[in-house]
Amino acid sequence: MNILDCDVLVIGGGAAGSRAAYEAKRTHPELKVLLVAAGGFGSSGSTNLMASESLGINAPFNYMQDGDSADVFYRDIVETGGGLSDPILARMIAEDACARIDELVALGLHFDTEGERIIQRKLSGCTKARSLTCGGSTGREIVRILKGQIHRLGVDILENIRVVDLVRDDNGRVCGALAAAGQDRLLINARGVILANGGAGRIFRHNVNPPTLEGDGWSMAYRAGARLVNMEFFQVGPAVFNAPLKFIIHSHMWRLKPRLTNTLGEEFLPRYCPAGIHPAEVLDLKAMSYPFSVRTDAKYLDIAIFKEVTAGRGTPSGGVYFDVTHVDRETFLSRSPITYETLLRAGIDLARDRIEVGLVVQNFNGGILIDADGFTGVDGLYAAGEVTGGVHGADRPGGNNLIDTQVFGYRAGLAAAEYAGNTGGKPPKPGSMDETYIQPLSSREEADLQKSANLYYSNLTIVRTKKGLQEVLDFVDRHKKNPNLIVGNRMTVGSILATAAHIREESRGTHYREDFPNQNSVWDTRIVLSRSGELDSPKATRLD
Ligand SMILES: Cc1cc2nc3c(=O)[nH]c(=O)nc-3n(C[C@H](O)[C@H](O)[C@H](O)COP(=O)(O)OP(=O)(O)OC[C@H]3O[C@@H](n4cnc5c(N)ncnc54)[C@H](O)[C@@H]3O)c2cc1C
Repeated sequence: MNILDCDVLVIGGGAAGSRAAYEAKRTHPELKVLLVAAGGFGSSGSTNLMASESLGINAPFNYMQDGDSADVFYRDIVETGGGLSDPILARMIAEDACARIDELVALGLHFDTEGERIIQRKLSGCTKARSLTCGGSTGREIVRILKGQIHRLGVDILENIRVVDLVRDDNGRVCGALAAAGQDRLLINARGVILANGGAGRIFRHNVNPPTLEGDGWSMAYRAGARLVNMEFFQVGPAVFNAPLKFIIHSHMWRLKPRLTNTLGEEFLPRYCPAGIHPAEVLDLKAMSYPFSVRTDAKYLDIAIFKEVTAGRGTPSGGVYFDVTHVDRETFLSRSPITYETLLRAGIDLARDRIEVGLVVQNFNGGILIDADGFTGVDGLYAAGEVTGGVHGADRPGGNNLIDTQVFGYRAGLAAAEYAGNTGGKPPKPGSMDETYIQPLSSREEADLQKSANLYYSNLTIVRTKKGLQEVLDFVDRHKKNPNLIVGNRMTVGSILATAAHIREESRGTHYREDFPNQNSVWDTRIVLSRSGELDSPKATRLD
């Protein structure tokens, strides 16, 4: 096994990892800061993805002079979160957002403007126009700016390294990580570790996440003793399903009043709209609410698509038909240019061709429970970005994930560097390491992972029931003994998501239990999961 030493190890090269590495090295230049990413640094992760019309980052600058402020922002986070966001962390995002953005602007980031004025847009779950953009490349631009600084400061970078486990010393303190680099294994010793490895969309059959996002961070942190919160809440929404494209169908497209049909040619949406709710109203609401959430009546659209596909009336690729051929090219070019041109490059002309649209997993609100410094409660372990949970509750305002990466990437970077700087001496050596396996997958294991991807998609996304969730838990139970961590991590994540969704017997935000369709105040509480034993099911506690 190859062995490397560093002071601060940052796992992940998206917006959170770059910010954390930058802040750690900026404030503690004497420390050896190492950033590792499963893909390329700045070219892997959701941050880098150009899969939607615009990628917004929220900060209450009030450039549109609509009365935005940190207080209003805070209230939006708490309200959209269905009361399940951590008030301290939510307050921190609301109050620190402008400062973190100003620092990026000082480093050279440019936002979209109208004339001289920076424009801000109102996204779902926001009462004010708060989102800043660099077109569809906002995340990419943030990382580009931070990457330049990281190189300048001398942070070490290792790409194409997949970390699969954390290592701890005899006192239980996290002191490094175990990784796979192709066929080689690598042990990285570190005084402090920051997990910034994003979400887990790739473990679902249909998703709009790039490769590498398989939730390894949750499995590792869970095994190391960290707690996971709000894991039942994650975002699923509509996307183009014409292979190989996976591109989000954004607000503007719903305003064009698409004709939605199943493979029998039926316009199915009216069947799913209760009396008094008109399908046109549902489409209008969808224009303001990208992810599925029971918070608004836009939910009937996602439920309708999901149920039509489940009933076997979906297209072979798992979607339905979406027809906006009544709209002319000029309208597309002025209202949805990025979507129109991306599809055009793939040989699809929206003004002429109907497309297939289905539901994809986009990103996660729950994750590793952190405090205001990104500390996980396990000595030596910090986390930031989409891998963390608590800031956002049952749902989140659009544009909040990116600002989360900056506010908590900053805080975790400072805190981990401070911690590492104070430990002194040589990097701690791991104690008795769990016997760990990272092996290439056998064809049987490949098939099991494929099965899990289908099962997770069918039972953990839009419509959840006790029976479906139990099916996931039974499957995971049968496969969790596999010592290959590539499989083991996948089972751990499935078990955590299904356990949380199984426990929450109500519907709230992005969590819809068909057998418990209403919100219930008994569940005004966060579900926290932690490890109870070697292969036991997660232990659940409530956090009021
Ligand atoms: C299509 C789409 C549109 C979105 N639109 C918006 C929006 O408009 N506004 C908004 O705020 N948010 C949006 N989001 C969410 C937002 O982009 C993400 O939550 C955010 O970018 C996550 O940043 P991150 O740094 O935490 O993770 P990521 O950017 O996902 O980066 C994770 C990094 O960790 C690495 N990694 C993963 N596993 C391992 C491992 N085992 N070992 C080593 N490295 C690993 C990856 O390779 C990558 O470098 C969108 C997401 C998607 C998918």
